[in-house]
Amino acid sequence: MDRDLLEATLRERGEPDFRARQVWEWTARGAAGYEAMTNLPRALRDELSAAVPFSTLTVETERESSDGTVKTLFRTADGHPVEAVLMSYRDGRRSLCLSSQSGCPLTCTFCATGTMAFGRNLTASEILDQALHFRRLTEINHAVFMGMGEPMLNLDEVLGAARRLPDLGITHRRTTISTVGWLPGLTRFVDEVDEPIRLALSLHAPDDELRSRIMPVNERFPIKEIVAECARQAGETRRRVFVEYVMLAGVNDSREQARALAALLGRDHFKVNLIPYNPIAGSAVGAQPKGRPPAAAPATAEHYNPSSREQIDAFKYELEKAHIPATVRLTRGRDIEAACGQLAAAPKPRLSPARPRIHI
Ligand code: SAH
Repeated sequence: MDRDLLEATLRERGEPDFRARQVWEWTARGAAGYEAMTNLPRALRDELSAAVPFSTLTVETERESSDGTVKTLFRTADGHPVEAVLMSYRDGRRSLCLSSQSGCPLTCTFCATGTMAFGRNLTASEILDQALHFRRLTEINHAVFMGMGEPMLNLDEVLGAARRLPDLGITHRRTTISTVGWLPGLTRFVDEVDEPIRLALSLHAPDDELRSRIMPVNERFPIKEIVAECARQAGETRRRVFVEYVMLAGVNDSREQARALAALLGRDHFKVNLIPYNPIAGSAVGAQPKGRPPAAAPATAEHYNPSSREQIDAFKYELEKAHIPATVRLTRGRDIEAACGQLAAAPKPRLSPARPRIHI
């Protein structure tokens, strides 16, 4: 729901100030539409239905994985695709994976989102409407900004949405914003955000040479600077920053690299989440001999294979030996392309003509 439009419409009608809050309370608690808001006069409900779309997004398709994960493809009013995912766990955790942009201007070589055309930044309302959609289906209690896009390129709108998530049942402590380490946004986050929102850093390599090869954005901001900025966040908030590390066989998963990662991070400020690599469309998992991509050529998805379980365990062991907490992330929703790095809705050519990738 576009809150600015809602407030403007109520103001125009001369409604009392509490109306916007009433509408929001119903919406945040999962009401199906204005019709359900029984403490609003009927005429007002009808008028709002006509003037303020209940959601800024329309649902295009929804798929459910064999593990219960739900992936929804939405469209913005101007036709941009946006995906979001709901993951349910046996312990009652219901976690949303939200998108901050339609597509992503970055081109991390292992991630499907970077292969689709970049659309635009999403507004806070469009981000929140992803969460509200799932709130109408079920109670929710965790959110990660790990869908499409780079949150630190759209920080104000991301924070605008994150700050309202508690009304939907998701506390700040259960909200995580993930970044490649886009330094201007990251610095602002560390300086300005007072709420206990968790920070996650998608690192994926222990040194600049390898990281630049698999994540071109690294050319902009050296590893040491982004790690120092995240350590500052951990120091100031006394909460560990999560390091995301996707395990690519023969690329970044050796014991030696685990030790280099441990030396880079130190034992006080980080917790490492090892993510099994999820194959992305166009990648030839299993068809390639395992091994490092040729050093000269930039790595592409075709070169990647998931690390073996033994290799992941050995990597984790090295981190733990260096007193760095580490976990292996459960993979969810792979069969419906809803797992990490697999979100890449095809744009609808008629509504959203392909735009040139913005130059960053
Ligand atoms: N741009 C932000 C938010 C997206 S988070 C960021 O990168 O942090 C999405 C997470 O999934 C990132 O940690 C990303 O590196 C990871 N990921 C991308 N492609 C993946 C793949 N094919 N398999 C597993 N994880 C992947």
